[in-house]
Amino acid sequence: MAQLSDDCFAFSGPLLPIADMERLIIERVTPVAEIEQVPLDGALGRVVALDIAAPEDLPPFDNSAVDGFAVRHADLATGADTRLIIAERVTAGHAAAHPLARGQAIRIFTGAPMPAGADTVFMQEDCRVEGDTVIVPPGLERGANSRSAGEDLRKGAIMLPAGRKLTAADLALAAAQGVTQLPVRRRLRVAVFSTGDEVVEPGACRPVAAIYDANRHLLRGLLQKFGALVTDLGILRDDPAALATAIAAAAGDHDLVITSGGVSTGDADHVRTAVERIGRLVFWRVAIKPGRPVAMGVVPGGPPGYGAAFAGLPGNPAAVYVTFVRVVWPLLLRLAGAAPRQLIALPVRATFAYRKRKGRREYVRAALRRAADGGVEAVKFPRDGAGVITSLTETDGLVELGEEATQIAPGAIVGFLSYAALTG
Ligand code: AMP
Ligand code: MG
Repeated sequence: MAQLSDDCFAFSGPLLPIADMERLIIERVTPVAEIEQVPLDGALGRVVALDIAAPEDLPPFDNSAVDGFAVRHADLATGADTRLIIAERVTAGHAAAHPLARGQAIRIFTGAPMPAGADTVFMQEDCRVEGDTVIVPPGLERGANSRSAGEDLRKGAIMLPAGRKLTAADLALAAAQGVTQLPVRRRLRVAVFSTGDEVVEPGACRPVAAIYDANRHLLRGLLQKFGALVTDLGILRDDPAALATAIAAAAGDHDLVITSGGVSTGDADHVRTAVERIGRLVFWRVAIKPGRPVAMGVVPGGPPGYGAAFAGLPGNPAAVYVTFVRVVWPLLLRLAGAAPRQLIALPVRATFAYRKRKGRREYVRAALRRAADGGVEAVKFPRDGAGVITSLTETDGLVELGEEATQIAPGAIVGFLSYAALTG
């Protein structure tokens, strides 16, 4: 059960700016507390619970970065070749038997420990072997092609900070340190519903006025990508009592309950009423397009005074996507104990003209293409509708237009967030 206090968001404005929403989430939501140890092979995407310090230097010993000859830099002539006696041969996984004496070189391979006395390595391509001697050219800097113990990471340095959502590279770093398991926060438990009298399950008989449920599949996929444990609770009718009962029951054993549809102002939009019956709606309407009617709340469940988070997303699939990545994802990160992500929209050139209202952030579904001059262009999907699912499948990401912007002309530089970055 997430430790969400009853007044965790308290917001009264008509349209909540995205930056305020993100700040509220950080300030008011407490992450799940339980910590478990998991083996590295089960840790991908999990959130590190405590700062992890490097148990040793990485690399653990000085070693050669190339295949070649290890030498003492002090032996080298300035401005002329130097001939050295090849004293030994050291491959990776073996140590030199003797320290390097003056006037000697040691044949060495990548990853082999630097022999005592050696400080520099010549690449084999730069050397000439004659009998049991090697001739090396002048001009190589002291320390060249040698990797020092601890140059990657010093023993005791924080290698994985608390809040890190583990990537494959993070797991490689932990493994390189000999670590076999990591303390992580428990996985989030998230329940998902669709709502709507018109929505039916794919595979079921579809009445003439019905549509198949797309949103639950979108949400399940996104939640799986996040690494949450998802409970799919099916489709709810547009009935406030049934909605209230189902959402309240789900709140009992989930950290977050997500619905789609029914949060707007239509006569059949009962999700907000249902949440207000059983818990509290803490904000409704964010300054975002598409997806403005998105709602968040707290629904009691678990210890008294605390409850599960509730997110009511709009019904149109593209609005579900946008509100999920911009509203729900930061909430999931916070609940999971993860640090906020650094989402940097990359500059691309718009090929389209666009007008928008000041005061809200808009997301334009766009495909990328390489322009003749080598630059990257964003091509807006031709149909704007938030119900158009191909606008998600046939594009690469979202052009983000800030609150202050009112119009975009073709050729303008705009910020682009790829779908991979938004759910990475
Ligand atoms: P609503 O906000 O409930 O009025 O829904 C807005 C639009 O989204 C309507 O056209 C709905 O039919 C559609 N919609 C709602 N839920 C789903 C769903 N689960 N899958 C696909 N479309 C949906
Ligand atoms: Mg509906």
